[in-house]
Amino acid sequence: MPTHLPAFLDAPIPLRRLLTSCPALRTLTRIHALLIVSSSASSPNLLSSCLATAYARAGDLSAAESTLAGAPASPSSIAAWNALLAAHSRGGSPDEALRVFRALPPAVRPDSTTFTLALSACVRLGDLATGEGVRDRASEAGYRNDIFVCSSLLNLYAKWGAMGDAVKVFDRMPRRDRVTWSTMVTGFTNAGKPVEAIEMYRRMRAEGLKGDEVVMVGVIKASAATGDVRMGASVHGHLLRHGMRMDVVISTSLVDMYAKNGLFDQARRLFELTTSKNSVSWNALISQFAQNGHADEALGLFREMQVSGLQPDSGAVVSALLACSDLGLLKLGKSVHGFILRRLELDCMVVTAVIDMYSKCGSLASAQMLFNRVGSKDLILWNVMIACCGAHGRGRDALSLFQEMKKNEVRPDHATFASLLSALSHSGLVEEGKFWFSCMVNEHGIEPEEKHLVCIVDLLARSGLVEEANDLLTSTCAEPTIPILVALLSGCLNNKKLELGESTAEKILELQPDDVGVLALVSNLYAAAKNWEKVREVRKLMKYHGSKKVPGRSSIEFRGALHTFVMEDQSHPQHREILQTASKLDSEMRKMGYVPRTEFVYHDLEEGVKEQLLSRHSERLAIAFGLLNTSPGTRLVVIKNLRVCGDCHDAIKYISKIAEREIVVRDAKRFHHFRDGACSCGDYW
Ligand SMILES: [Zn+2]
Ligand SMILES: [Zn+2]
Repeated sequence: MPTHLPAFLDAPIPLRRLLTSCPALRTLTRIHALLIVSSSASSPNLLSSCLATAYARAGDLSAAESTLAGAPASPSSIAAWNALLAAHSRGGSPDEALRVFRALPPAVRPDSTTFTLALSACVRLGDLATGEGVRDRASEAGYRNDIFVCSSLLNLYAKWGAMGDAVKVFDRMPRRDRVTWSTMVTGFTNAGKPVEAIEMYRRMRAEGLKGDEVVMVGVIKASAATGDVRMGASVHGHLLRHGMRMDVVISTSLVDMYAKNGLFDQARRLFELTTSKNSVSWNALISQFAQNGHADEALGLFREMQVSGLQPDSGAVVSALLACSDLGLLKLGKSVHGFILRRLELDCMVVTAVIDMYSKCGSLASAQMLFNRVGSKDLILWNVMIACCGAHGRGRDALSLFQEMKKNEVRPDHATFASLLSALSHSGLVEEGKFWFSCMVNEHGIEPEEKHLVCIVDLLARSGLVEEANDLLTSTCAEPTIPILVALLSGCLNNKKLELGESTAEKILELQPDDVGVLALVSNLYAAAKNWEKVREVRKLMKYHGSKKVPGRSSIEFRGALHTFVMEDQSHPQHREILQTASKLDSEMRKMGYVPRTEFVYHDLEEGVKEQLLSRHSERLAIAFGLLNTSPGTRLVVIKNLRVCGDCHDAIKYISKIAEREIVVRDAKRFHHFRDGACSCGDYW
């Protein structure tokens, strides 16, 4: 005997009402059971759709699917299928949503919602190919210009950075809402096309639409990338005028935009006004300061961040380490290292920054020790360690690291070879340099760039093989740049190859160098060739550019504080004692045979004045300060912003012997370790 449904279930309308009222799963299964055993239910299709939708809403997706699949398919069941797709998407299984989409029975006609849901699933999966398949099916079904389908498609293309395709969809859309515009602006920004992003924003404004927060962040980021501060500032003004909510994301991107474009005061002020700063906002500012030569401010902020109770993340820590390296603050760098060990995970990025910090602060041994303890080393870490060895003039160590790296099956890239070649050239390892340069080109297929050519030309020219260096240049490089030619020229000068030297000097002058050091080299070459007319011409250029020269600045860390010296500056409290020490050293050096090389003073002055100027070069003052304040035998580490001049290089060799100290000088190019009257660079730098 067939079971009869309770009377209230036998009427379709109240039954559907019950099903749409989100009953609990238990109720649903009971109703379902009753419907199955009874045969009297009217319009079974409609009921099974309602039932499936109810299952989907209640979270039992497999019951929903089997109910739908078990009922005869009809066009009206699409709403239930859509509910199932939406539930899969909401539940974080976009792949399941796509599976259901593919399994739609042919009799079910997908609608705009179906395609939109399927496309959103493709966006979440980052699956462009499937998305394009969905697009084609939507077109066939007549939804090519449907605003919802277009929006989702736009979203897919924008996520993929396929902005060309996005524009095509965008242009054919009959209507565009704020979300559409916002997708385009942020899409262009994220695809690294800031100019187009700003253009899109202008079009949006021209059509009378105002941007929301998402658009604003996109435009601000685009302004930061293009250096269009005016646009960025106008967005800032727009936000203020319209009283729009300045959440932490917006204010962080504004801070970043100002700082990236060098407006550090604005960045700082806005940052201070930001109420709920998170670690991202701190990090943005700290890293901008650290990367743009404002190491002091970066470190100050790093401390403030800790005081404010926020734990610096690895990004902030890397920025702080960068700032320490920049200034040569070994003690602070060490304490950051300690902080990392206590609080953070030592991942590859952080450990690379710590190693680089130790090396740049003059402590290669600490860098090496840490490097040896790292278990799995990535390419960047190897590159950095090889570069560190090179900068300290340890060519052989760099080479054996390189070989160890290859043994570990890490494939060297262009940066590895640049570091290796530079290390070999700093150590005068000619045969090794030639071998690895040709290996780089022939075996690894790496096109030599400027950085590689500078090293190999330098290496060859230095050891007297100037013709070979010149041939190599002619065959590999159509338009050698100033740094490459300078490497060749100094080789010519040192090895008295004046004919090639003069033609090289000519090429350099054609490129209009404004660096006084380069001009001095050119002038010295012409002097050696007795071409006095040219000497006068170049001297004139030197005088002109010399006045614009960045002043030499040297610093030394003492008891955790940084003491910085500039030649004419008398503000240091120990100024007088420092000068006394410097002149005492000067007279002792002269007794040992030191002769001041006044050619390194590029002004027309009397010889005596020139000599005095030399003895007050900033690195000499920093060393004198170090000798005055540290106990005998303490190693001195001096950081200089420019290259050490030839006279100071000579002088420091004498000083290391007189004072019986190891003196480490980091100049713009490399490290010099002075010990017992000699320098690790072997007088080539
Ligand atoms: Zn000097
Ligand atoms: Zn040196």
